[in-house]
Amino acid sequence: MSPLTATPAASIDGIRSAIARGETTAKALTEIYQARIAGEDDKIHAYLSVDNDYALAQAARIDDLAVKGDSLPKLAGVPFGIKDVLTLEGFSATAGSKILEGYRPPYTATAVKKLADAGAIFLGKLNCDEFAMGSSNENSAYGPVHNPHDLDRVPGGSSGGSAAAVAAGMAVATLGTDTGGSIRQPASFCGVVGVLPTYGRVSRYGLIAFASSLDRIGPFAASVRDAATVLGIIAGHDLMDATSSPLPVPDYTANLDRGVQGMKLGVPAQYFAEGLDPEVRSAIEAGIDKLRAAGAEIKNISLPHTRYAIPTYYVIATAEASANLARFDGVRYGLRAPRSDTLAAMYRRTRDLGFGAEVKRRILLGTYVLSHGYYDAYYRKAQQVRRLLAEDFLTAFRDVDAILTPTAPTPAFKLGEKSDDPVAMYLADIYTVTASLAGICGVSVPCGQSKAGLPIGMQILGKHFDEANLFRVGHTLENL
Ligand code: GLN
Repeated sequence: MSPLTATPAASIDGIRSAIARGETTAKALTEIYQARIAGEDDKIHAYLSVDNDYALAQAARIDDLAVKGDSLPKLAGVPFGIKDVLTLEGFSATAGSKILEGYRPPYTATAVKKLADAGAIFLGKLNCDEFAMGSSNENSAYGPVHNPHDLDRVPGGSSGGSAAAVAAGMAVATLGTDTGGSIRQPASFCGVVGVLPTYGRVSRYGLIAFASSLDRIGPFAASVRDAATVLGIIAGHDLMDATSSPLPVPDYTANLDRGVQGMKLGVPAQYFAEGLDPEVRSAIEAGIDKLRAAGAEIKNISLPHTRYAIPTYYVIATAEASANLARFDGVRYGLRAPRSDTLAAMYRRTRDLGFGAEVKRRILLGTYVLSHGYYDAYYRKAQQVRRLLAEDFLTAFRDVDAILTPTAPTPAFKLGEKSDDPVAMYLADIYTVTASLAGICGVSVPCGQSKAGLPIGMQILGKHFDEANLFRVGHTLENL
């Protein structure tokens, strides 16, 4: 595998200045990445679609600016991939589902538009679990993604393509989405940086919805600095998403080098209990020791409701999914089952053919927990527990600036290892769903390897809208 760092100008700032100084062109760089995709992606399958002409046309616009000596936008010439749940006008957007085969969205997601306006180059759309439901990318209707570090293993999910593309040097940065862990967990499995921004920090306009109170868009990159740069571009208020926050967007790269001296970092007992792989434990503990040595004060904390997080998440997320996925009926988007005698039969056959097993399971579960007689027992109860989980964090953040945990209980598992056991698969998100339910921000940063050479990620969680401090901790860890 050709790691990203093998390209001299592979950081975002490096690319921009190399183009500005005439040392390379956006076109040359785009062609390097296109050649890598052509050479590597038959083994990895990170991309569902590529459009080389589109990318080269974007690159030509950057090269024109450079030739004229105009100042270059922040992401000038940076090759990106976009998870296939995000829309880019005229490009397919399958969400990893057969039901959206052939659908061409007539509009572009706000986050994607902001990248384009900042000079990014779009190489293509990235593979993912169907409607972002999964932890291994094995639920994609178009076949799984393979982990670049070991092709027999999963890249994590649901943004498996987004993580694998960065890890394999097939994009400098990518966008993914995270509803219960889908950015952080694949970042951990693939050895890259993945950011869960605070709920409301990035507009969800143009994101094909899974669970609207949990869905978030965020970046993957090879370094904390690059991830921080991308978040700074895509964040901000948007009239097209009423839940997007009007808070100003800080410069997320400004304080990266300030170190962790004097910061208070919490370590929650519940995240180091039974079920944690010993190699992950020792890698994370070693990372914590390094941060302590760098001047952070490490404090033991408790997040007492943690054990309720997985069941709470699977009630709320499936309830919202059952409502969101009702729109895929064979009339408005993509697939339509042929030869149905009645409208109702057409709906039924389209949904039967178009949705995969996991999506059907979740629609059924979500419909059940919202139904008369069960709503109070499941859905309302889950909302109450969600509040308790959020309060655990608010209480903890009175004493600490950020929280350190493993991102996932194990390194990347084998393809097929958990695909017959939904509950085992759901437990892969045990450390990530809590922050999703609480709406707080998080980042996964590489923190060592297993003996077999598999990446291990540390999750750093922060207060609402406190991404800058997470990047500061993450950047420090990365350099230790
Ligand atoms: N793996 C979790 C799920 O299957 C989270 C997915 C996500 O964050 N999109 O729901």
